Amino acid sequence: MSSWQNTDIVKHTDVVIIGAGVIGCALAYEMAQRGLRVRVCDRRAPGAGASQASAGVLAPYIEAESRSTLEQLGVRSLELFDEFLSRVVADAQQDVPYVRDGTLEVATDDSGLAGLERSWRALQEEGVECELLTTAQVREVEPMIGPLVQAGLVVRPHGAVSVRELVTALVRAALVRRAVFVDACTVRRVRGGRDAEVETDQGVFRAPTVILAAGAWGGELQLERVPAVPVRPVRGQLLALAHVSPLPQRVVWGRDCYCVPWSDGRVLVGATVEDVGFDEHATLGGVRHLAAAASRLLPGLEQAVLENVRVGLRPCSPDRLPIVGRSRRLPTLVYATGHYRNGVLLAPLTAQVVADFVSSGREDPMLEVTCPARLGDL
Ligand SMILES: Cc1cc2nc3c(=O)[nH]c(=O)nc-3n(C[C@H](O)[C@H](O)[C@H](O)COP(=O)(O)OP(=O)(O)OC[C@H]3O[C@@H](n4cnc5c(N)ncnc54)[C@H](O)[C@@H]3O)c2cc1C
Repeated sequence: MSSWQNTDIVKHTDVVIIGAGVIGCALAYEMAQRGLRVRVCDRRAPGAGASQASAGVLAPYIEAESRSTLEQLGVRSLELFDEFLSRVVADAQQDVPYVRDGTLEVATDDSGLAGLERSWRALQEEGVECELLTTAQVREVEPMIGPLVQAGLVVRPHGAVSVRELVTALVRAALVRRAVFVDACTVRRVRGGRDAEVETDQGVFRAPTVILAAGAWGGELQLERVPAVPVRPVRGQLLALAHVSPLPQRVVWGRDCYCVPWSDGRVLVGATVEDVGFDEHATLGGVRHLAAAASRLLPGLEQAVLENVRVGLRPCSPDRLPIVGRSRRLPTLVYATGHYRNGVLLAPLTAQVVADFVSSGREDPMLEVTCPARLGDL
């Protein structure tokens, strides 16, 4: 029996969640808070999939095209973060490092400069608090910046959250609300019926609602009468640096990498984007690419200690939007996967929308754009 388990395991719950990544854990917490009896199964420990590798940057205005669906979802979720996190922290009785002091995106060549100017104009039109900076102004706000910088764009609403602590706090907060976590539990198959049956190597769990939050591995699950969910793994490598002094002032985003500073002297440098299937190894090429990019962006990082290399498989859907909503073919099944590069950012919104839907049938407009049926007969 694992340390994550409550002792009062019952075979039947209101919900079984497959996958204890940031999405599954956020869902578990929101649903347990609404009074649902929740069981979460993961073949590893909570957060040990893509989530442990995540940089935790909350930056919808960099990650998505202006006025795109992804931007709208990201902005909505970002707006929920303060309230969501304060609830989690209060229930878990555990702090989660979290900052909302903006991002500094920098350009180091003419095309980068043109891109920053375009972004700045689009953000101005959207009414987003941001400033376009000259080279001298960039140096003022970020003295560590490298010699190649030509301009910068500060986007004020952006931020970052420490994902490992976030997942631990989500689990604690969900446990307080009587959720049950079963780790080292591989789910093999989901069968339909009035109650779904979730077949695992630790027995069969029954519930009227099963949520598929298995990240990049979602397509490997056998679902009765339903084709495999079309998510594919996209590997990301990230460097965790320690003993960085002085620290960058905020998240610095360059052409080839981004750097996320934390007050304990750590800086996370992300991330590669690699199409290599289910391969979770770190590679010399990945480390070299990130180390070189980080040194160009912030030369002071050359002196940092390389603490570890983190690798994760991002769950990518064909249109790069999350897959969230009820299955048409298996009504007991709800999908919550495909969050690709933005699963941490989108966790509060996904959790809230799915929890509302499962507990009260309320259909948020998000479910129209993330509906699984857009991708086939799911
Ligand atoms: C290097 C890197 C940097 C990133 N940076 C950011 C960032 O700055 N901001 C951001 O918002 N996002 C970022 N992301 C993306 C983010 O990490 C993902 O979108 C998010 O972690 C996806 O969460 P998840 O819960 O869906 O998947 P996961 O965290 O992968 O969790 C899925 C879980 O399901 C379990 N599972 C799978 N199959 C089974 C089965 N059959 N039985 C039991 N359990 C199963 C797995 O063990 C796993 O724990 C980054 C990703 C990477 C790799």
